Amino acid sequence: MAQLSSNIPSGPLADKWRKYKTEIKLVNPANKRKYKVIVVGAGLAGSSASATLAELGYQVETFVFHDSPRRAHSIAAQGGINAAKNYQNDGDSVHRLFYDTLKGGDYRARESNVHRLAEVSVNIIDQCVAQGVPFAREYGGLLANRSFGGAQVSRTFYARGQTGQQLLLGAYSALSKMVGQGGVKLHVNSEMLDLVVIDGVTKGIIVRDLVSGAITRHSADAVILATGGYGNVFNLSTYARGSNATAIWRAYKRGACFANPCYTQIHPTCIPVSGDYQSKLTLMSESLRNDGRIWVPKKKEDCKKPPADIAEEDRDYYLERIYPSFGNLAPRDVSSRAAKRMCDEGRGVGETGLGVYLDFAEAIQRYGKQVANRNHLQNPSKEKILELGEAAVAERYGNLFDIYHEITNENAYKTPMRIFPAMHYTMGGLWVDYNLMSNIPGLFVLGEANFSDHGANRLGASALMQGLADGYFVIPYTIGDYLASNSLPAVKPDAPEAVAAAKSVDEGVQKLMSTKGTTPADDFHRRLGHVMWEKVGMARNAKGLGEAIAEIQTIRKDFWKDVKVVGSAKDLNAELENASRIADFIDLGELLARDALHREESCGGHFREEHQTEDGETLRDDDNFAYAAAWQYNGEGAEPSFHKDELTFEYDIPSRRSYK
Ligand SMILES: Cc1cc2nc3c(=O)[nH]c(=O)nc-3n(C[C@H](O)[C@H](O)[C@H](O)COP(=O)(O)OP(=O)(O)OC[C@H]3O[C@@H](n4cnc5c(N)ncnc54)[C@H](O)[C@@H]3O)c2cc1C
Repeated sequence: MAQLSSNIPSGPLADKWRKYKTEIKLVNPANKRKYKVIVVGAGLAGSSASATLAELGYQVETFVFHDSPRRAHSIAAQGGINAAKNYQNDGDSVHRLFYDTLKGGDYRARESNVHRLAEVSVNIIDQCVAQGVPFAREYGGLLANRSFGGAQVSRTFYARGQTGQQLLLGAYSALSKMVGQGGVKLHVNSEMLDLVVIDGVTKGIIVRDLVSGAITRHSADAVILATGGYGNVFNLSTYARGSNATAIWRAYKRGACFANPCYTQIHPTCIPVSGDYQSKLTLMSESLRNDGRIWVPKKKEDCKKPPADIAEEDRDYYLERIYPSFGNLAPRDVSSRAAKRMCDEGRGVGETGLGVYLDFAEAIQRYGKQVANRNHLQNPSKEKILELGEAAVAERYGNLFDIYHEITNENAYKTPMRIFPAMHYTMGGLWVDYNLMSNIPGLFVLGEANFSDHGANRLGASALMQGLADGYFVIPYTIGDYLASNSLPAVKPDAPEAVAAAKSVDEGVQKLMSTKGTTPADDFHRRLGHVMWEKVGMARNAKGLGEAIAEIQTIRKDFWKDVKVVGSAKDLNAELENASRIADFIDLGELLARDALHREESCGGHFREEHQTEDGETLRDDDNFAYAAAWQYNGEGAEPSFHKDELTFEYDIPSRRSYK
């Protein structure tokens, strides 16, 4: 049975991290060269960790299933990254970022980790600027900021709508430097399919070469998983199609606890689903809510009219009406549920009725007038104001408007965008302690792959912050303490446990190849996604969750009876990769539903219909559920066991979370 200890340092909240850093054991520089660390993943979390650990002198081996670290899903991040710099002088501070994040997560995150995250946020920006990340700047040269949901200050640093791409290029150049110097050995097209655990301690991984099909053993003194989130369990999501849960799921099957799998985030501003055979959904960044106003018609009978024909007094700017103090910048979970309520009332727009408007008309007018004033234009015409306003909006969000146009063939400068909530992020993940180490010694988990600092709901622009905090600023300390404090047995790639793990990976591949069914793996993924969205999605209840578990079990049986994988296992085979990942999604989907069923409360993105306030908001149960639920694998077909990692609140006593 796993023993979970969060290992939170003693002392006052605001001093814990400083005190921890002064008290931990250090590895002498000459000894660092003797330790080997495996990093799986090279998104923001993995690249930053690999580069930093190699700079410190450790031998690092980095594995990615992509053909280049630059293809990691982090590259898709659009809106920005938070940091408590207070450049805007609008009242921000480390404490306020800490408070907003904890409250935003509906008091279901570990307070000490969240405080550390807010503290190191300021260092991240300095590090990235030094690397040359081209953050947007104000006229005077200072870095610019914009607002994101759940905050009343502007603390989001951005590079137009390509913040993730620019940050990843920064981390990638740091990684490339260390690859060039021999500090990091990079393995591309290499998928980790198992974890090697010897005498209860992590000692390596098993990898399949996606081009040749070769299965190899790799050993190390510590393994870091930075393999991203599991949102594609819903099939349709804003994730890159290749994002998957296999690394963390296989580690779970080797004994690592999986925490809060039911904490999933539905993002309110995505392009609505358009058909059954769509493979992915597209995010319209939350940054658009800085200037876009969200509305639906007041009257159902207006829903099919063109938006321009609906008079101003017949529009319901429902977020501004219901949440006057945060308005269109209400957090994601709150905004998504509000959109669903509007559509459930029959006031949704677009062909399916599953859409709301995101309208820039007012922002275009406002910016147009501002620019005209700044340029001393006397009595500018309406057309001139429109032209100047559209140019100002394009400067801020142009690439997002282009994406919207590419997908819908509509010009969002002239007519409002249609948006609807979609699966976007996972707050759950492998359980880690304060050191970011799982319950298996030597296995560390960073970025979206861990159960993270976001509790039951992540605030916008905080994932990039967390991934880079973990990689650049936390793991370099905590892994050193682990290596210096333990006498670790020698690394042995040919240990019987490693050989057995490689054999079981090979058998798994053969099982998929030999099923020789008639149904492509994607069909099972679509079935799974449908169940997840309908019964484990934005609103959940006990009956639906029970049905979901039974339906997922049926999907699993059908999958193993009838999955069709063509091609060979000794060659590049995308069908095989896909089927193997979907098999893991099916298992994970069941655990997610089980976790949602056990959590008899509503918090953040986890909305149980049985537990809501009179006005349809989440109703937490702090007496019974103020803990992270950590699930432990008990073997095929057996129910997982369950541990509580109790949450204690030293600074901020959980209160009713309100954005009104
Ligand atoms: C469209 C979109 C926009 C977003 N915008 C923002 C934003 O503006 N601000 C913000 O803060 N957050 C944003 N997010 C969230 C944020 O982008 C992610 O949470 C974050 O980038 C995840 O980084 P990561 O390093 O943890 O994982 P990833 O970037 O997903 O990297 C995972 C890495 O692991 C590797 N990998 C995975 N499995 C294996 C395996 N089995 N074997 C070998 N390698 C493996 C992959 O090759 C990859 O290198 C956005 C998310 C989406 C979907």
